[in-house]
Amino acid sequence: MNENTVNTINTEIAVLGAGPAGLAAAMSAKNNGAHVILIERENRLGGILKQCIHDGFGLVRYNEKLTGPEYALRDIKTIKSLNVPAFVNTFVLEVEKKENSFVLYCINEKGAYQIEAQALILATGCRERTDRQIFLHGERPAGIYTAGLAQHFVNIDGYLPGKEIVIIGSGDIGLIMARRLTLEGAHIVGVYEVKPEPSGLQRNIAQCLNDFSIPLHLSCTVKTVHGKNRIEGVTVVNVDESGKEIKGSEKYITCDCLILSVGLIPENEIAQSLNVSIDPDTKGPYVDQNMHTLVDGIFACGNSVHVHDLVDYVSESGTIAGESAVRWIRNKRKRNLIKFSHDNSVLYHIPQFVDFKSNNKIALYFRSKKTYSNTCSVNLIEKNSKTCLKKFKILRPSEMEKIVFDAQLQDNQNLMLQIEENYGNY
Ligand SMILES: Cc1cc2nc3c(=O)[nH]c(=O)nc-3n(C[C@H](O)[C@H](O)[C@H](O)COP(=O)(O)OP(=O)(O)OC[C@H]3O[C@@H](n4cnc5c(N)ncnc54)[C@H](O)[C@@H]3O)c2cc1C
Repeated sequence: MNENTVNTINTEIAVLGAGPAGLAAAMSAKNNGAHVILIERENRLGGILKQCIHDGFGLVRYNEKLTGPEYALRDIKTIKSLNVPAFVNTFVLEVEKKENSFVLYCINEKGAYQIEAQALILATGCRERTDRQIFLHGERPAGIYTAGLAQHFVNIDGYLPGKEIVIIGSGDIGLIMARRLTLEGAHIVGVYEVKPEPSGLQRNIAQCLNDFSIPLHLSCTVKTVHGKNRIEGVTVVNVDESGKEIKGSEKYITCDCLILSVGLIPENEIAQSLNVSIDPDTKGPYVDQNMHTLVDGIFACGNSVHVHDLVDYVSESGTIAGESAVRWIRNKRKRNLIKFSHDNSVLYHIPQFVDFKSNNKIALYFRSKKTYSNTCSVNLIEKNSKTCLKKFKILRPSEMEKIVFDAQLQDNQNLMLQIEENYGNY
């Protein structure tokens, strides 16, 4: 290949990102008879799973407890056996929408590519929130890392980021890193969570903190970072119910490393450059039940749509996106979209739109806005009727729930999701 020429490739479907979502999307598109290309900016397929060497992956899909790399390897083997071309180390510079296709301008060490596809599947995952987004005061010395970066250091590069470590935020990656760093010989001073409840899964609180006697401090946060070249300590402070600092509760803690586990945000620069509408609640594209965004021909799946707790549901959304993209390029039917909203009892839900002439079996994913511990029902409000989709004994914002239901849809009808507290009538 001449490095000065642009290589033109035509395909039916281009999948952007080769984490579990992109791998599942490419497999299902290929299995449904389409020509597919997979594009990944890193040098290996598998996405974030490559660095998640703990187990707990695949419980729903395989009924097995796999590590991240084991889970990814199953899909990578299938992708190879299906002969799906995978471009790794490939960076997408720009995507242009044409009348009936998309043109991806890409570059890798072999040269420049112009890939034309009839449909695009975005499976670009999410990125971590950093210190800039949490108003952390004080210096910015060495020794402050996001939890995912610390995980990369330990599990891929073989470096220990510190020995006396404070973790800010109780997201799942931080909890998993608290255990991982302890096993590698570091001392975790504590996990400090500003909210009154942990934001990670209950099973991670039990297995990663309680089992290792790592203290979790709720309604408490890191106020200031100290140190010039290397971090030397932090000041932590308690907060009241409204999140305001409680004067006089400040405490200095000596540490050589601060790890941030303060949330993830879907990565959607490419979606936005193509005018894909983004849901302010999820920070990912609005999608219908087929993972089709509001731009015809652009599908999205996995953590680029909303942040998942379980990889199994990430793969499931990729499978739906892959088969839907094939169906769409085969008949290009105009969609009839109905808005599916929620009231303020729900933090967010997917899908936010329903194509009422399409598949009526809807896989609904949602998180509650607050913890409901008195049993509650999740209701679907249509025109004048309310249907209870499912009752729950407990609902927590940290745990994504799934309900599959058959919608009897009519044109011009809006749907709304609502959580109603039943106070014991389970
Ligand atoms: C620390 C941690 C622990 C977890 N633990 C568990 C667990 O125990 N059990 C469980 O079931 N789940 C767990 N999860 C969740 C699960 O791993 C993730 O939800 C899942 O990996 C997300 O898959 P994805 O394909 O959407 O994104 P990712 O895995 O992030 O993949 C996205 C891919 O897209 C690529 N990409 C992004 N932008 C571009 C671009 N412009 N061009 C080309 N490529 C691009 C990225 O390089 C990446 O490879 C964990 C997640 C983390 C981070």
